[in-house]
Amino acid sequence: MKDYNLAIVGLGGMGNWHRETIETIDHLTVCGSFDIKEDRQQFARDHGITPYNSLEELLNDPKVDIVLCSTPNDVHKEIVIKALKAGKNVVCEKPVTLSSKDLQEMIDAAEESGKLFTVHQNRRWDEDFLTVKNIYDNHMLGDIFRIESRVHGSRGIPGDWRQEPEHGGGMVLDWGVHILDQALMMIPEKVKKVYASFTHVTNELVDDGFTVELTFESGLVYLLEVGTSNFINLPRWYVLGQNGSAVVNDWDLSGEMVRVTDWSKNDAVPIRTAAGLTKTMAPRTEETIKTEPLPVVHSDIRDYYRNVMATLSGESEIIVKLPQVMRVMKLMEAIFESAAKHQVVDFE
Ligand code: NAD
Repeated sequence: MKDYNLAIVGLGGMGNWHRETIETIDHLTVCGSFDIKEDRQQFARDHGITPYNSLEELLNDPKVDIVLCSTPNDVHKEIVIKALKAGKNVVCEKPVTLSSKDLQEMIDAAEESGKLFTVHQNRRWDEDFLTVKNIYDNHMLGDIFRIESRVHGSRGIPGDWRQEPEHGGGMVLDWGVHILDQALMMIPEKVKKVYASFTHVTNELVDDGFTVELTFESGLVYLLEVGTSNFINLPRWYVLGQNGSAVVNDWDLSGEMVRVTDWSKNDAVPIRTAAGLTKTMAPRTEETIKTEPLPVVHSDIRDYYRNVMATLSGESEIIVKLPQVMRVMKLMEAIFESAAKHQVVDFE
């Protein structure tokens, strides 16, 4: 394969994650960076990268094949369009931008340039997601009727631009874009209904958490939740199928699947609670169920850039496609509408 040079615009926390990751990928080199902050320019020098003096200087350098945009969300659009017009291939951090209208302008610029434009939806490579997708794809719990996907923390929104609406802050745009992309990648159906509510526990201006319920065409309900004031976390995933349930507790992939082995034995012995008796909620006995380890799927996040390079070499097609990115962007707009109106919104 040909060797490719990538230049980073915005060498902050995530820009540096890309730098470190790319160091371990064959045929790809970080050839320079540009950041508006002098301390990040110095950080580049300290790590053996020559910083460009301006975005224009970076874009005018013929050795740059790919531009990575890892700035705050509000400036993605301007930088991506400039890079495409300069004839560069572009990888943009998520969320690609702040609205479907802005995204359309970026897509138009990509089409005019004939260059590759894709988005870093890296959480498609998360092993917890791939494991639940494995359960879904292979029907391991029978027909799935409910999936709950949660990300909980207790630190509020980090004290940076993520707290400010003008920079595209808030948790829908930050974490929502990841777990919504995962939902649409997992369930190959139309989303018919969207209902969303936001929290403002630590931040009045942007959502510091949300709960979204998507109803897919088959009736499958997919609940997504991001919380930043959760001092006790609920499991990362909870999946209910007609023949069993699965839980993935955390990114460490701890969890289990419980499947029914014998539907015929239904002679539940009622249990006593403090104030009464229940047969419905009596736990199953071991002879009718089987507890199994999760069918774990492993991944390598470096495959993201390997796919970008293989696409540029004409050996593959890009995994993160712009129509998929646009669908998630429109879904986020439906979520903002639902939360503002306190109403269910029709989607597709
Ligand atoms: P950050 O604040 O740590 O870094 C952003 C950097 O961009 C800063 O150094 C800032 O000085 C620089 N910058 C701002 N405006 C600029 C401009 N016009 N030109 C050049 N540099 C500019 O933020 P971060 O956490 O690194 O987030 C950056 C992007 O990465 C965001 O879009 C964020 O959503 C995304 N992100 C993605 C993931 C993921 O897993 N895919 C994780 C974290 C962040």
